[in-house]
Amino acid sequence: MKAMEERILNEGSILPGGVLKVGSFLNQQIDSKLLKEIGEEVARLFEGEEINKVFTIESSGIAIGTAIAMELGVPMVFAKKHKTSNVDGYVYSTVVHSFTHGIDYDVFVSCDYLCEGEKVLIVDDFLANGNAILGLIDLIEQAEAETVGVVACIEKGFQGGGDEIRNKGIRLESLAIVSDMSDGEIKFRKQ
Ligand code: 5GP
Repeated sequence: MKAMEERILNEGSILPGGVLKVGSFLNQQIDSKLLKEIGEEVARLFEGEEINKVFTIESSGIAIGTAIAMELGVPMVFAKKHKTSNVDGYVYSTVVHSFTHGIDYDVFVSCDYLCEGEKVLIVDDFLANGNAILGLIDLIEQAEAETVGVVACIEKGFQGGGDEIRNKGIRLESLAIVSDMSDGEIKFRKQ
């Protein structure tokens, strides 16, 4: 998606540890016009596919997941990282290793919101080593639902997550794939 690549080039900054900062348009401050374009692009890519639900992980996936779900006309569900008092009853849970924080944490979703036979589209802001998305796939499998595909706004192609998901035979649509940023210059590749 050209608009995504342009924003990364114009506003992205490279932090130590291979972290790409996109806080001015996708993370902390979110460009609502870009968000709408993301929703429209994903609806176009998955046109004709039956999708019952969009599934993401808090917190940075929520706005993106909502924008896509609005275009598709389906609910958005997010996996939680904290078991707050308003979550009761049975949950599906798994452990995810955080790329940005370097720790393992539990993520879970209420059994009420992910149901057997549902066709689910996974969405997240970044795909790096793939742990977050593989955790969401695990939750979908526990619910005996089906992963229709995965959307990553930004895939860091020099980390292994995207290839691992493709090798599983899961459809992955990355709106921008950063192939390299090791020398301070951000380069892209196509799917
Ligand atoms: P993974 O689980 O694929 O290793 O990492 C994906 C998760 O880590 C995403 O949910 C995202 O929030 C975070 N993440 C990974 N790499 C980056 C990055 O370069 N920049 C930002 N802002 N977040 C990242």
